[in-house]
Order: sequence, then structure tokens, then C-alpha cells
Amino acid sequence: MAEAALIWGGAALMVGLIVGSYWISFRRRERLDHARLEEAVELGLQRPVGQFPYIDASRCIGCSACIDACPEGDVLGIVGGLAKVINGVRCIGIASCATACPVGAIEVGLGDVRGRADIPVLNEDRETNVPGIFIAGELGGLSLVRNAVDQGRDTAYGIAEGYACGGDVSVPGYVDVAIVGAGPAGLSAALASVEKGLSYVVIEQQADFGGTIYQYPRRKLVHTQPVDLPLHGRLDKPEHSKEELLELFEGLVRRYDLAMRFGERVLETESTEHGYRLRTTAGEHFARHVILATGRRGTPRKLGVPGEDLSKVMYQVRDAELYRKQRILCVGGGDSAVEAAMGLANQPGNEVTISYRKDRFYRIKRKNQERIEEHIRRGLVKALFSSTVVSIEGQVVRLRCGEEEVVLDNDWVFIMIGGVPPFPLLRKIGIRFGDDLVVAASNNGGNTAHSPAP
Ligand SMILES: Cc1cc2nc3c(=O)[nH]c(=O)nc-3n(C[C@H](O)[C@H](O)[C@H](O)COP(=O)(O)OP(=O)(O)OC[C@H]3O[C@@H](n4cnc5c(N)ncnc54)[C@H](O)[C@@H]3O)c2cc1C
Repeated sequence: MAEAALIWGGAALMVGLIVGSYWISFRRRERLDHARLEEAVELGLQRPVGQFPYIDASRCIGCSACIDACPEGDVLGIVGGLAKVINGVRCIGIASCATACPVGAIEVGLGDVRGRADIPVLNEDRETNVPGIFIAGELGGLSLVRNAVDQGRDTAYGIAEGYACGGDVSVPGYVDVAIVGAGPAGLSAALASVEKGLSYVVIEQQADFGGTIYQYPRRKLVHTQPVDLPLHGRLDKPEHSKEELLELFEGLVRRYDLAMRFGERVLETESTEHGYRLRTTAGEHFARHVILATGRRGTPRKLGVPGEDLSKVMYQVRDAELYRKQRILCVGGGDSAVEAAMGLANQPGNEVTISYRKDRFYRIKRKNQERIEEHIRRGLVKALFSSTVVSIEGQVVRLRCGEEEVVLDNDWVFIMIGGVPPFPLLRKIGIRFGDDLVVAASNNGGNTAHSPAP
């Protein structure tokens, strides 16, 4: 009898210990996620960029499977026992959370775009309210390489159909279509244009093609869903390395000798008798139609300090391994700046400083926070908080740190302070957004004119 009681007591203790330790770690995680949510709301980070996870609170069981499945790590958290979007701006739309949810409580999508000032209103052909101006790819709100390729291709096919059925005609001096951006959407539109015999030009602000893919870290695995790339065929591997995808695009760019204008940013478009004039940083182009495939990440934000035009100043780190025994300054306090600083600090002989205008890092992933603290503690990265760059010179950088001027010996400066979003350009063109629908509806007794295509 006493033996049985001992066994039962031991078993109960074991169960109690297991449940108790799970409960403690669950509560700890929840407290952390609650603090992250508060900080994210303060910084406006919980708002999504494009599509994002919708969590049905009545079905969520708070099991964290969605959090563990997210490749970005910190988009979701558990608050009040339920999954919540915390760092919505980092959602890349892969929807692994929805797949992992055991009770089907998550859907990833754009939701009701009425009221959203960052989702342009498109018809089913992806044409904006400005006739002849179309939007393809992430700029329309949906991310993922597959969506970009699909939309770029279908938009160009749609324009080609107009010519094929005689509803449209080519005009001398005008290309049939100007494609702005050489990411997957722009490249797919260009290949579809070649396939359908449209005249076209691709205008890309960077020095190379690939768009966001080009910016991924080296050897990043890109999760891809099956998609038909014009003049190539089906891409059906579930994963490609960044390098593989770029190589594939490069082969197509060469093979079809695509008409690309690199290093040229489109500044504005204005309508003409036959279509549009696109003014760029290098001149102008005339086009019957325009496909805007600029993505949503915008143009790198500049500091606007003397010396920023020196060739040692960069806005992204493409390959940290190329920098050794260098004196480097990274500017910024987000994940990109912190990841760049750590990546560069881990190369032999580099001396890396990070300058941030605030008094600590506020809006970075938990994992990055821990890693950068460790790098700073070990002297691998020197952090200058509450500092601003005053000027960049050949061999030095001058900074202001409170009242003090700090002069650093320097070979390279990486400025990673975010991007200027593409929406002002669209508004300048006259393109309407989701929030315009709300205004239209309230002027119209609550009836919205139409909803955008998904
Ligand atoms: C970290 C990260 C990881 C991701 N991982 C995946 C993944 O695993 N799988 C997946 O499917 N998707 C992933 N995505 C999303 C995917 O990369 C994007 O959805 C896709 O690249 C969007 O393609 P796009 O052609 O619409 O735009 P982008 O790829 O952003 O290309 C837009 C191009 O337009 C150019 N441009 C912008 N403005 C102008 C202008 N005014 N004039 C001229 N050119 C201009 C830009 O320089 C850029 O080259 C990820 C995104 C990020 C940020």
C-alpha cells in the first residue's frame, strides 16, 4: 500500500515538474511577447507590409506551432494565450504558419484593403485607375516570387492581347510597354513581352537585375511554389538558392538579350497623346503602356551628408566575405544594419563600428538583439549610440556623439536606414489606393465603387 502511494506520489511529482516547467517557460515566452507587442505597436511595426496572417481567435489554441514554423522567426507571438501578429512588417507571405497551424486558425492574405493607404486599387487585369498603367508583383500587395512571376507574365500577356485583337496599335517613338523594375515581376513581364512580340524596355534603378532576390543574403534558400516563367517553362522545385535563381534569370537575360536600362530610376510619368513619358534619372522614355514592378521596398534612404557620393559608401552588403582587414562603419539600428555589422565583424581583421541615432536598438529581432549584444561585449563590434554621421571623407568619417565629435579611420560606410517607399510616386501619377475607396464610399453613402483584385 505504502509502496503504491510512493509510486503514485512520484509519478504525480514527475508530471507536476514537467507541466510546471512547461508552464513557466510558456509564461516567460508570453511575457516577452507581450512586451514585444507593446514595443511594436509603439513603433508601428505590427502593421503588415503586404499580406499577413489572419488569426481566427475563436479557433487558435495558442500552441505556438505557427511561431516555430515562421522562417522570419518573430512575426508572431503568443499574447493572452493566443497567437498575435507582432512584427507584421517582416511577414514575407510564405504562409508556413498557416500550414503548420493544427486547427486551421490562420489564413495569409491581404484582407479587406479598403482603408489601406499602401494597397493600390487594381482591376482584374491589374490596371490601375490611370488607363494604360499596370501594377505587377509585390507593389500590388502580394509578396512571393511566384506571385511576382505570375503577375508580370499575365499583365504583359493582357497588354499583348489588346494588340492582337486590334484594339491597340504600336506608335513610332513609343515602346509598347515600359517595365519599371527588374525583379521577378519585371523580368517575367519582359520575357512575356519578347514571347508575344511586344516592344519594351526594362528600367531598373540598381546596377543589376533580380530585385529583392539580389539583396538576399548569400546562399539563402528561397521557398518557391510552382510557377510558369515565360520562355523558360515551369519552375517546380520547392527551394532554390538565391544564386540558382539569379543564374537562371541571367541565362534568360543573355539568351533573349533583354532590353534593360540599369542605374536609371523612374522619377515620374506624365500622359502624352499616345501614352506616357517616363522621366528618369538618366533621361526619358516614351511608352504606350507602363508596368510598374517596383516592389514595395523602395529606394535606399540616404543620410544627406557631405561625402555620401564617395564610392566607398554602400547601401547594402552583398557579400561580407569580400571585406577583410577593413575599417567599416555601419549606420542604422534595424535588423539589416545589425546583421551587416555582425557579418562584417566576423571576417578576419575587420574593425566594425555601428552608429545609431537612438540610445539603444529598439526594433530588431530577439535573436539579433542577443547576438549583437554578444558581439559588442566581445569587442567585435563597437556601438556608437545617440550618434549621427556628420561627414564622410576619403580616409575618415566624422560623427557627432552628444556634444563630442568622433573621428573614425574608415575604408567603407554601409548606410542601412531603410527605404523611401514607392507610394508617393504612384500618388503623383494619380493612382488610387485602398484608403481612397473609403473616402469615395463615405461621399457615396457607404457604397464602395469596387474592390481590388486579390
Ligand atoms: C528577406 C526576404 C526573404 C524572402 N524570402 C522569400 C522566399 O523564400 N520565397 C518567396 O517566394 N519570396 C520571398 N520573399 C519575397 C520576394 O523576394 C518578393 O515578393 C519578390 O522579390 C517581389 O518581386 P517584385 O519583382 O515584385 O519586386 P522586387 O523583387 O522588390 O523588385 C523591384 C525592383 O524594382 C526596382 N525599382 C524600384 N523602384 C524603382 C524606380 N523608381 N525606378 C526603377 N527601378 C525601380 C528595384 O530596384 C528592384 O530591383 C522574401 C523577401 C525578403 C525581403
